[in-house]
Order: sequence, then C-alpha cells, then structure tokens
Amino acid sequence: MVNVGVMGTGYVGLVHGAVLSSYGFRVTCMDVDEHKIERLNQGISPIYEPGLEELLHEGLEKGTLSFTTSAQQVVQSSDVLFIAVGTPAKEDGSADLSYVWEVVQQIGKYINGYKVIVSKSTMPVGTSRSIALYLDGSLRGTSYRVDVASNPEFLRQGKAVSDSLAPSRVVIGTESEEAKELLKTVYATHLEQDVPFLFTNWESSEMIKYASNSFLAVKISFINELALLSEKVGARIQDIATGMGMDDRISPHFLQAGPGYGGSCFPKDTQAIVDVGRKNGEELYVVRAAIAANDKQKAKMVSKIEEVLSFDGTLKGRTIAIWGLAFKPDTDDIRYAPSYEIIQELLSRGASVKVYCPQGMRLAKQQWTELSSRIQYCDSEAECAQKADAIVLMTEWEQFRTSSWEKIVRTMRGNVFFDMRNMFTEDSVVRQWFQYYPVGSSEYG
Ligand code: NAD
Repeated sequence: MVNVGVMGTGYVGLVHGAVLSSYGFRVTCMDVDEHKIERLNQGISPIYEPGLEELLHEGLEKGTLSFTTSAQQVVQSSDVLFIAVGTPAKEDGSADLSYVWEVVQQIGKYINGYKVIVSKSTMPVGTSRSIALYLDGSLRGTSYRVDVASNPEFLRQGKAVSDSLAPSRVVIGTESEEAKELLKTVYATHLEQDVPFLFTNWESSEMIKYASNSFLAVKISFINELALLSEKVGARIQDIATGMGMDDRISPHFLQAGPGYGGSCFPKDTQAIVDVGRKNGEELYVVRAAIAANDKQKAKMVSKIEEVLSFDGTLKGRTIAIWGLAFKPDTDDIRYAPSYEIIQELLSRGASVKVYCPQGMRLAKQQWTELSSRIQYCDSEAECAQKADAIVLMTEWEQFRTSSWEKIVRTMRGNVFFDMRNMFTEDSVVRQWFQYYPVGSSEYG
C-alpha cells in the first residue's frame, strides 16, 4: 500500500488528505501551525467545509489519518508527498513561493528513499522544473531519488469534499513513468469512476491551473460588465446569461452577475499569470482587463448604494446591514472577499455597518483586525437588519431564502435591499416588502 504525506493542512491539503484516507491509504498530514494540528488530532476541523469533519473523524478512528508538526516524520513515512501550502500574492502580484521552498528544503533534508513529490499548490510555470533541479542537486552523492509531478487542484470551496471525491478531471504533469504509475495507484478510485485524466509535461500542467482560473475570472468580469450596461439600457442580465448559456460553446455556468469575484484563488492567480506573462515578454491583455473590470465592479456596487442612500453626499447617519462575508456560500473563507472592500468603502463614507455571516465571522474577527473594531457583528440576519436603513446581501447563503421578511422589515428603519447575488429576483415577497436593487437590471428599483 502506498503511504501518503500531505504538507500543509489548509482547504486543499486537509480535504485531500482526508479523502485519500477514506480510500484506505495511510495518510500523514503535516503543518507548521501547532494549534491547527492539536485541534485536528482532537477531530476538530480548523475550517468549515461540508462533510469534512465526518471524514476527519472516520480517518482518525480507523487510524488511516494522522497529523503531525514534524516534517521529518511526514517525509520519512511517505512514498508520495503532496505539497499543499499556500502560494499567496506578493505586493507586485507575483506568487510568493516561500512556503513551497520551505517544504522542498525539508524534503531534501529528511529524504530516506525514493519519493514522488507532487504539487497540489498552484505554482507558476517553471516551478516544478526548479524543484526537480534543486532536489536532484541536494541528493547528489546519495542513493536517494525523487520524481516531481504537478497535480493542480480544482476543488471549489464549499464543495471541496464532494469535488475531491468526484473531480471534474485529474491533471498530472510529470516526465516520469514511475511517478505516473504511482499516482495512478493513488487515484485508482477516480480511474475506476472514469474521471478524465490528462497527462502532460510540468509546464502545461502548471499552466492549466492558471488558465482555468483566469478564464473563469474573465467570464465573471465579462458578465459583470454587461450587467452594468444592462442597468443603463433596460436589459435584464439574468435573461442575457440564460440566452447566452443556451449556446453549448458558451455554457450557462459562471455567468452569474455579482459584486465582483474574490476568494483566495482568482485574485491572486490572475495577478500571478499576468506576472508570468510579463516576465516572458507576453502581456496578457484579456486577463488584465478582467482584473480591472473586477475592481470597477466593486466600486460600482458602492456607488449604487451611495446613490440610493446618501444624504447631502454622505452616508453619515445611515446604518447598513451586510448579509454574508464569505466570498461564496458554504465556506468560512473570507480571503479577498468583495464584502471586505465594500464594507471599507461604506465606512469611509460615514455609514455604520452591521454584519452577519453564517460561517465567515470567526475568521473575519481574527483577520480583519482593524476593520473589526469599526463594525458590529450580529448573531443572525434578523438582528443584523434591526434599525438598518438597508440590507446588502453579499453572499447567497441558502438560509437567507427563508428569512421572515415581514418581521425583518418591521424592525428596520428603512426598507432598501441590495441583492448583490440576484438571489431574490424571482421572489415576489421580497420585492413586495423592499425597495429592491439586484445587479444587472433596472426594472425593480
Ligand atoms: P491555506 O492557506 O488554507 O493552507 C495552507 C497551509 O499550509 C496552512 O495551514 C499553513 O499553516 C501551511 N503551511 C505553511 N508553511 C508550511 C510548511 N513549511 N510546512 C507545512 N505546512 C505549512 O491554503 P489553501 O487554500 O489550502 O491553498 C493551498 C494551495 O492550493 C495554494 O497554492 C492555492 O492556490 C491552491 N488551491 C487552493 C484552492 C482553494 O479553493 N483554496 C483550490 C485550488 C488550489
């Protein structure tokens, strides 16, 4: 049986490790965050992801899943080592690979036999080749050998477990047949499920991840730009998206207009590929435009709120209830969530801001330190709306659908509803109680 190691137990590493342990592999997950590892050993997931805690308990009980802070232990006990540490954006937009290199150095230091080193982390083109060169160099003079593979992760947060159990595809970039065979063993369940597999070289595999995320970012920015235009010309963006999506070449997916994309991947990955383009003498105009349109979208959402609510050119004296902080539903992740920038802008225009998010508030309190002292966290969407002039729905959590609208509106000071996710465009009850502003249509306001 292949022994698996995972370095980095965030959204990707933890889910990946837990899923592989559910297939019966002995999986050791390692992280430098001692608190995280302590809690994981107690069966407590540090992140919210539907179905994850169940897998965690199952793995711990069966003894197929274990957690450690020791790099030596994970390296020496594993045949296949997945790198799943963060690759955040640096100030200049390029990917910060310092966590990746920390891990690679530890692999070089503790290696005790043949290993396949597989990157799940999103890494700019050329990184796998550099890792292979580095490890070959550091193993010179020993009998140990490594093969390096790029195996980008395509899971969607909020659906991470189900996506990992049944991925859209498995992409493996490697030049080694031995690594390919070992990875086919690790992914035997997916092969049996007829999940499409694509084998490429390192560079193509690395690029597929950036290309996929950038393409999705372009699609969102495209529909968002048309949503802004629709508001001006009397069209309705949801009908436009439906009409476009009827064409197989376009597909209806990822054509939902909103307040701009966010999260830990699209913003950083679009910037990183633009940076790679520049470094290689190819300006990526389309991706750059998507980034600019996304910035514009967030600013436009603030202007829209301002137009409706401002008094004498300011939002002073206005109280705004923000529903949803996470960048999408069913996750607690608030990294680069559009809610952050929108809240900041509303505060700078003098508004008081109350917030509620089913899962995002714990991390917001920890990570938005400066902002947190200036906003009021609430225990429910109803409490958040109390005495507010307007609700701004930022994340389409399913629980918002069944809100007691009449009760909520009666406790509010105003009755304005900005639906940044077009969640209630078909809901006549919401439109009856509120002055309703969706994205991409002027017919409701
Ligand atoms: P994350 O920030 O949630 O987790 C990273 C983990 O790595 C943290 O727990 C951190 O403590 C740990 N770490 C840092 N240095 C370490 C070291 N030297 N040794 C061991 N652990 C270390 O990140 P994430 O969201 O899981 O993303 C990981 C990678 O996967 C990134 O490259 C990201 O772009 C990519 N990715 C993420 C998603 C997603 O939806 N989050 C999807 C696809 C790909």
